Amino acid sequence: MHHADLLEKHFRLTPQQKKSLAILKIRTLGDLLYYLPSRYGEETSLLPISSLTKDAHVSVAGKIVSIKTAKAYRKKIPLTEATVEDDTGTIRVVWFHQAYIAKTIPEGSLVRLTGKVTGGKRGNYLANPHVERISDLPLGADTSLWGEGAGDILPVYPETRALSSRWFLHHIRRAVAGGAVEMMEDPLPEEILTQYHLPKLKTALIWAHMPQKKGDAESARKRFAFEEIFFIQIARQKERRAYQAHGAFTIPKRKKDVETFLSRFPFAPTAAQMRAIETITSDFEKEKPMLRLLEGDVGSGKTLVAAATAYATVTTSPLKRSEDGTFGRSSLASDDLAKRQSFGNLQIAYMAPTEILAQQHFDSFISYFSHLPINIALITGSGCKKFPSKVSPDKATDISRAQFLKWVANGEIAIVIGTHALIQKTVKFKDLAYVIIDEQHRFGVMQRAKLVRRGDAEQTRNIAEAKIDPFIYKDLTYRIRNVLFNVKKELGGGHKEIIYQKAVAIELEKASLSYSREVQIPIMYQKKRVGTYTPDFVIDDKIIVELKALPFVGAQEKKQIWRYLRGSSYRLALLANFGPRELTIDRVVYDTARASASVPQSSASVPHLLSMTATPIPRTLALTIYGDLDLTLLDEMPPGRKIPKTEVVIPAERTRVYEEITHEIAHGRQAYVICPRIDEPDPNKIGALQVKSVKAEAKRLQEKIFPKYKVGILHGKMKPKEKDDVMGAFSHGDIDILVATSVVEVGVNVPNATIIIIEGAERFGLAQLHQLRGRVLRSTHQAYCYLFTDTESGTSQKRLKAMKESHSGFELAEQDLLIRGAGELSGAKQWGISDIGMEAIKNIKMVEAARTEAQKLLDTDPGLAHHPLITARLASKNIAVHFE
Ligand code: ADP
Ligand code: MG
Repeated sequence: MHHADLLEKHFRLTPQQKKSLAILKIRTLGDLLYYLPSRYGEETSLLPISSLTKDAHVSVAGKIVSIKTAKAYRKKIPLTEATVEDDTGTIRVVWFHQAYIAKTIPEGSLVRLTGKVTGGKRGNYLANPHVERISDLPLGADTSLWGEGAGDILPVYPETRALSSRWFLHHIRRAVAGGAVEMMEDPLPEEILTQYHLPKLKTALIWAHMPQKKGDAESARKRFAFEEIFFIQIARQKERRAYQAHGAFTIPKRKKDVETFLSRFPFAPTAAQMRAIETITSDFEKEKPMLRLLEGDVGSGKTLVAAATAYATVTTSPLKRSEDGTFGRSSLASDDLAKRQSFGNLQIAYMAPTEILAQQHFDSFISYFSHLPINIALITGSGCKKFPSKVSPDKATDISRAQFLKWVANGEIAIVIGTHALIQKTVKFKDLAYVIIDEQHRFGVMQRAKLVRRGDAEQTRNIAEAKIDPFIYKDLTYRIRNVLFNVKKELGGGHKEIIYQKAVAIELEKASLSYSREVQIPIMYQKKRVGTYTPDFVIDDKIIVELKALPFVGAQEKKQIWRYLRGSSYRLALLANFGPRELTIDRVVYDTARASASVPQSSASVPHLLSMTATPIPRTLALTIYGDLDLTLLDEMPPGRKIPKTEVVIPAERTRVYEEITHEIAHGRQAYVICPRIDEPDPNKIGALQVKSVKAEAKRLQEKIFPKYKVGILHGKMKPKEKDDVMGAFSHGDIDILVATSVVEVGVNVPNATIIIIEGAERFGLAQLHQLRGRVLRSTHQAYCYLFTDTESGTSQKRLKAMKESHSGFELAEQDLLIRGAGELSGAKQWGISDIGMEAIKNIKMVEAARTEAQKLLDTDPGLAHHPLITARLASKNIAVHFE
């Protein structure tokens, strides 16, 4: 049997099995071998607690008989201490620095613990074991359950329709016995395997499917987990490099101007906000596009960072040639309103996931930018607006779509805020330099790609007036020529290209010229990317150097280089040919060549990208799924924020809670009431969920509970105009209590609203609850969050309790990982990370290693020319490539 053989060749499959296999993307024996067990009949490896000995790595299962948090004696380290009991005895368990564990695992829980037995003054204990909640105690060491005799660790495979675990076991064993593993080549480079003590592919497959001991299976899993994360990292890093191979608009920092801009805000920026602005504006100065994720908890003030960096962008003009022949920019920082129509500056696009939020950003940006001669526009599904209006210069007015498109295309509108409507094909920018995506987790990957592509090669940027001096980079060229001639002198002619490449690299270093060998330039064909060109050298990020060792170079070679230049942000290439007798160096300049060939004038500048998110996901997951982005954390809240009081409310306590709320409203505060659904369910429909609906609850609250106050409603099915009106009334205080669906979850900002009631709270994820609670953390007033629930399910209660006790989104995310398991983590599945990959997500060291190795590999082999197996894997697994 060969691993490339189709399954049908060796196995008889029913039509349903074929279907299920197709869904699992298992076509060949090799694919089947990569279908890994989800667990093993690992009960056999559990040890009785009474048998534990010091320094052993063990797994035990038992009941938590006590659990509490404490401070470690003297060192003041927070810790959780528990006692776990099985039929044979008890053992103490200690988790250092993990005080929250006590909150997630109540007394009486059944757990499986894996870790090291440590000796201490008070006897042996398990130190920082891995803990997993289980629903039943396993059946001890009763191996007879597994038939075939002791030591036979039985893999258990995830089952799907018509494919049982047993089916997989049987067929995988047949494939292994038939020799399907023999010819499989390991896609992971050997150095990596050695460095991280990972088994080779063949060994790992055998160990995963037929382990002799538990440790073998674990090593195998570790390898496959690493492998998966490694390939994701390779894919992300490749995308990043491809994106950054384009040029970007450089934007000068102008620290003073940005500070002046910020001085108009009613508060001083936090240190974290200033750091983020500094980082972003530093990225702007580089000639490559920024790719950055700004992660900051709800209410940490991301909008201000967006505004300040947008300011730096829109007050910068595109590259202009000045009198002395250098490239310069004019900046516009004055309040000269007369200049408002002197458009032509760089543009930004700011995308929000909902209309409400887009409208809110539009309003905020008007207040931030109204003193500047800058046009701001809003585009949503329900139309377009522009500020200022021609007739009343302090207001925004509706404009037609056609007008909007025209003004964006000619650069008259500098700031474009919108929903997805922003990424339609028809929206073309003149000089889109910066894209900000708010609440980016709400958008699909493809949407992000689309928006960013707005600025891609198809985007025309008029550089006609900037007639390029044919002798650009004269000094640098001269230095490079020296390097090349030195190499020729030392080496003479007749060597292979690679020899010259190495020698040139050494000589460039000697001459202190900075160079890169990994720049990737897309090769376009009818607006589609059909390949990549990686020049031999890019010197000082300015000049491409291509080496040849041919008898001679002619027009053909030059033409080709010129075409590559065209797809790049570079303007000059040197084509050096170490011919048999002499060294020839040809200059290829894109702009002069263009004049004769009359190709469309376009540049490959792409916008800087800032993704903003409050999704509290564990760092490991962020590093993986956003592996192409640099990470900036906004890890400080504006001063004066009080910790919200969070309460889990059972039905019996409603009345008391309503009284408390009435008291707050009487003091001028406002409240949100979040309901899981909009309408009452059809009573005839069997099994309809008995949860509160916005409409009925609003009616009830208005009539029975808060007759003196104004109750309003908001939900996703309302017309945009109605939504606007309601949000407007709520932010002006005309509505006291807003009954809504979770549409208010994302980013809505009404500082005076300090109370949020969440009905059916158990139905929301922790991340979502945290976001909802964030709605009332927008001021210095005390905030209240009431989680109404009537379920008594243990997991739900535990999750709601976690909300009560933790106020950090990141901590809550880590807890979700613990309580619900990795598979439930929001987004993980959507990103195509398998269960085994998620195991790696629990391990920061492994994620970091995979990332470093992927980077290293691409540094040395950017095109993956020497790693065909990796290329093949990327293609076959179709690891989402989102900038292409
Ligand atoms: P998020 O990060 O959730 O998008 P916002 O940008 O909406 O947060 O900011 C939340 C609230 O905090 C807003 O009302 C904003 O005006 C306010 N804010 C932002 N930065 C500061 C600051 N440095 N000091 C005081 N308040 C601030
Ligand atoms: Mg926000």
